[in-house]
Amino acid sequence: MYKPDYLMMTPGPSIVRENVMKKRSEFFGNPDLDEDFFIFYDKLAEKTAKIFGCKKESMILMSGEGMVGLDSACASLTEPGDRVLVIENGLFGAGFADMVRPYGGVPVTLSFDTKRKIDIEKVKEFLEKDSNFKFATVVHCDTPTGVLNDVKEICRLLKSKGILTVVDTVAAIGGEEFNALEYGADIALGGSQKCFSAPPGITMLSVSSDAWKAIKGRKTPIASFYCNLSYWEDCVEKRLFPYTMPSSDLMGFDMAVDNMLEEGIENIVERHHKTAKMCRDGLKELGLKLYLEDDFSSTVTAFYVPEGFTVNEFIKRLKDEYKIFIGGSYGPYADKVLRIGHMGESAKTEYIERTLEAIKDMLGK
Ligand SMILES: *Cc1c(COP(=O)(O)O)cnc(C)c1O
Repeated sequence: MYKPDYLMMTPGPSIVRENVMKKRSEFFGNPDLDEDFFIFYDKLAEKTAKIFGCKKESMILMSGEGMVGLDSACASLTEPGDRVLVIENGLFGAGFADMVRPYGGVPVTLSFDTKRKIDIEKVKEFLEKDSNFKFATVVHCDTPTGVLNDVKEICRLLKSKGILTVVDTVAAIGGEEFNALEYGADIALGGSQKCFSAPPGITMLSVSSDAWKAIKGRKTPIASFYCNLSYWEDCVEKRLFPYTMPSSDLMGFDMAVDNMLEEGIENIVERHHKTAKMCRDGLKELGLKLYLEDDFSSTVTAFYVPEGFTVNEFIKRLKDEYKIFIGGSYGPYADKVLRIGHMGESAKTEYIERTLEAIKDMLGK
């Protein structure tokens, strides 16, 4: 049996509250046929929309973790030959190019320093020369480094050029401010296992009226069944989901959303700011070097592995000896960078204290 005994401080999945686990264990009914399940889904979409800052009708809750959301946005918007502007300063951002190509999209990547947020002025300059794009992609918090982008300004700029936006806010929403309608984000997407603090399994998307227009105005059919968003537009009215909904996942997710709304989004964002700062200050006090100098997301802190350790050794010792599990990183940062997640339920001062204490002890300080 798989039964972890550690404090989970990884940058997703995050800690799941007991009431969410309990809800998942309850009898789930028939999500295909039961009228009450559609009512439940509709209410859950309405509650989730409050967190995304969009209308209930814009909200889609799909089976699958975050990547299904990214894939669905790309599959549903991209037609063969469409140029897509991939604005990136990290691995998730750059990865969008690989997600539009299978649908015949032509990605044009605009790259930025991974240690800084995306430079709006440079995006503006670029768009003055070339703005012939169907849509653009951008990541709110690029998790492998924890850099936070100003998606509000980016979405507004793109909208002013008539370019649709796809915003991956999987690692930020519920920990940083976000508002799809106010920002004009056309498709924004999240995952259940980050700041929502539910187990992986659900991806949430807000789809604007402009995005629906683009999806419905396509000249070519969407080249995917599972990732075809058009099935979702009026699935509640039609009482027909494109596939059997993961009822236990959604019941747990519903509890997690209730937990969030009870605390209040503003309070949650403030709690994340506080714990993130505490984490950064604590690491610096221990003589450790943060990966970023500025533009930190409040959901994850990346820092260089201390001398005398490899990333894997550090993680293993913290896990085995102190029962605290933190993350390494990916790509160019894989053997250099460690990451502490403070997302949702993990963003608590007591957990940060425990983690910092353990690191201090391990470093012999
Ligand atoms: C976690 C994450 C995803 C989704 O990845 P999963 O496979 O669901 O873990 C997408 N984008 C970002 C920025 C993420 O942090």
